[in-house]
Amino acid sequence: MIMNQLTDIRYVKAVLSRHGFTFSKALGQNFLVNPTVCPRMASLCGADEHTGVIEIGPGAGVLTDALAAVSHKVVAIELDGRLLPVLKETIGHHSNVKVIHDDAMKLDLHRLIREEFPEGDVVICANLPYYITSPMLMRLLEERLPVKAITVMIQKEAADRICADPGTRASGTISAAVHYYCRPEFLFQVSPGSFLPPPKVDSAVIRLNILKEPPIQAADEKLFFKVVRAAFLQRRKTLANSLSAGLSLPKGTIGQMLTEAGIAATARAEEMTMQQFADITAALLKTLATP
Ligand code: SAM
Repeated sequence: MIMNQLTDIRYVKAVLSRHGFTFSKALGQNFLVNPTVCPRMASLCGADEHTGVIEIGPGAGVLTDALAAVSHKVVAIELDGRLLPVLKETIGHHSNVKVIHDDAMKLDLHRLIREEFPEGDVVICANLPYYITSPMLMRLLEERLPVKAITVMIQKEAADRICADPGTRASGTISAAVHYYCRPEFLFQVSPGSFLPPPKVDSAVIRLNILKEPPIQAADEKLFFKVVRAAFLQRRKTLANSLSAGLSLPKGTIGQMLTEAGIAATARAEEMTMQQFADITAALLKTLATP
């Protein structure tokens, strides 16, 4: 299969209709047909002759094909069984590609990496189904998979939020969580016309460069994430108010905690740096330990 065939709308439509395939909105099926996007993603995701790739949702195989050209091994996980015969036809000739029929939200990815990539580095690269962007990314990060980077196409708006530095206006729970595990990079924007069928909104490709160590030391990791979630729960309100509601603690206690962390009670969640969230966590831990 040559690359441009899978970005040729007439060819893709013909293959899909031969297999009786119709697009499922519920599964986030928007296939890439812009010829420049997949080679770009493949070259930027870090895959090479020593670095394997896991792809989530190969669809008709357009990105899989580009990844197979740069990596020694590609393992692609597709939930929709109707696409298996399609993939056999479009990318079945690649001896370095393995398609697994499973749900990427449920599959044991640690095991998959152990079995499929016993040695060498691994990266993840995907045009993610948009309905599971946040839970999928959080799953990939929280499981601390032994991967070097995660390169994904997601909605542009989500990309902006994820890449926003904590302490800036666009930041939120997801940016703080993501910055705990990795250094996110906004790579490039992609227009709706690059997909079949076109989605309603712009998309973007981001790369999450996995950190060996978190950028801050949280006294208690679970509590740190609880604090971040609570802080952004009512982002228009002051930190004191949203933490009091989100952590179910009296405002007086929260006020004391913030003073201890050197943070003004009138501050807002979006102004907090990762270090300040860690300071609040430490102060909360102390408060909870005091009888
Ligand atoms: N990679 C192809 C492309 O770029 O043209 C298809 C991308 S499409 C946005 C998302 C793909 O993910 C679809 O093929 C869909 O069936 C698949 N998918 C949806 N949910 C999934 C899940 N939970 N696990 C694995 N694949 C999933």
